[in-house]
Amino acid sequence: MDRTATMTPAAQSPEQTPPDLRLIEDWKRRVAGVPVPLAAMLQELVDAHGPALAEHFYDGLLADPRAARFLDPGQVQERLKPSLQRWARQLVRAGIDDTADLQRLHEHIGHVHARIGIPVDLVGRGMRMLKEVLYAAIRQRAGDDALALEACVHAGVLFDLALESMTRSYTRSREAAGELDGSFRLFSLIQNVGTERERQRALLLAWENALLYALTAEQPGPVENLLLSRSEFGLWFLHKGLASFGETTETRQVGELTERIDGELRERLPAAADAAGRRALLEDIRGWTGEIRNLVGILFEGIGDLESGRDALTRLLNRRFLPTILRREVALQANTGRQFAVLMLDLDHFKSINDNHGHEAGDRALQHVASILVENTRGSDYLFRYGGEEFVVVLGSVSQTEAVAIAHALRRAIAEAPLALPGGERLQLTASIGVAMQDGHPDYERVLARADAAMYQAKRGGRDRVVVADGPLPEPPGQQALRG
Ligand code: GH3
Ligand code: MG
Ligand code: MG
Repeated sequence: MDRTATMTPAAQSPEQTPPDLRLIEDWKRRVAGVPVPLAAMLQELVDAHGPALAEHFYDGLLADPRAARFLDPGQVQERLKPSLQRWARQLVRAGIDDTADLQRLHEHIGHVHARIGIPVDLVGRGMRMLKEVLYAAIRQRAGDDALALEACVHAGVLFDLALESMTRSYTRSREAAGELDGSFRLFSLIQNVGTERERQRALLLAWENALLYALTAEQPGPVENLLLSRSEFGLWFLHKGLASFGETTETRQVGELTERIDGELRERLPAAADAAGRRALLEDIRGWTGEIRNLVGILFEGIGDLESGRDALTRLLNRRFLPTILRREVALQANTGRQFAVLMLDLDHFKSINDNHGHEAGDRALQHVASILVENTRGSDYLFRYGGEEFVVVLGSVSQTEAVAIAHALRRAIAEAPLALPGGERLQLTASIGVAMQDGHPDYERVLARADAAMYQAKRGGRDRVVVADGPLPEPPGQQALRG
């Protein structure tokens, strides 16, 4: 069985969402309907005024203090302005056959903007300022008002189509990220799932016992005091349980059973003055409470591994929370200047461990490595199971020297602690590690990709080693000899 299939899949990428066919149709219609001379005039103008368009677009963005967080003036000048000119040229040149690609491209741009955290209104403002320049150029060039109007409408709709496509994927990506961030917060809320499960089990039992006691008493007291929804368990479920488990069949059933129990209590308790009537009521309630207990057990089971964000095998964080953490670290670095590093760690020749010792030994090896990672990192670091035998470590507030030292310590710890197999055999493990410092780029995918590339370099270099992205750094003295 492929165990990787049991891991929670990464959140669906918005790039995998189907394209908006209606939008593509609109785009096609717009492109098809434009007279050739008009399109040619627009292309000519965009070519001639390209630098001014880019100038105004980025002036619009940079005038907003929020832009400083992700736009570096040097980068704007050297890379982004030329790229904006290329984009505008492409936009006004697109033929009918290009529209689907164009729509996909803009969805991708919107997705990247969302990942980086560029506010969508800023892009809208840049577009507006760009259009103002373009309209002025059209008016000057067109000669007659009717042609100018037609050209402005055409250009306006093209840029609006582009913005609409971007905004579409932007919104989806932000929503998806928001949901993830939300579930991460809840996950942190119920960090200790085992303890919480036992606590709630005990509280439900306590309510049942209190009810039993009340029902055997001469005067059960006001029924409102006996309701499950008012009990500590009921309150917990309403305020935290529901929020943490989300809308599922089980949460719905727990809600219905709670209502049912309270309804029956309200209806039958005043009438059940005799012992037999109360016993029957209690019997029924016990049955329903038992069902609640089972359902809550199932809910905790789910949140215990997959939904909680922990990988079931290694207990490390699931990779679906990696964007949440990296986005936060990128923002933290922008605000505080504290650098963070990403280590990409892949176990060497892991396939042969499975082949030679069985899948179970492979699983044990993964758990073994996970515990080495936990022992050799700080409480503030984040440990993810990134894939089958790949791990990602996010080190907050580190210099490159520190990050590299930690990477070497991890590599050594893994190499020096072979896994003892049940038969007494000792399984030698090694890992290849890529280290990348966050370089200030607002897109966290960059630092991940750089760490990944460094890790592959470590593989190519012979495995069981650490490679730092963007240039070699000598291994700290005294550690070279320890390499196994
Ligand atoms: P390299 O040094 O190049 O990384 O070689 P490798 O064999 O480690 O690389 P490869 O990616 O080809 O193999 C990874 C293997 O890890 C394949 C897969 O069967 C195994 N694997 C992935 N997930 C699990 C798991 O959860 N449990 C076990 N036992 N094995 C797993
Ligand atoms: Mg691998
Ligand atoms: Mg491997």
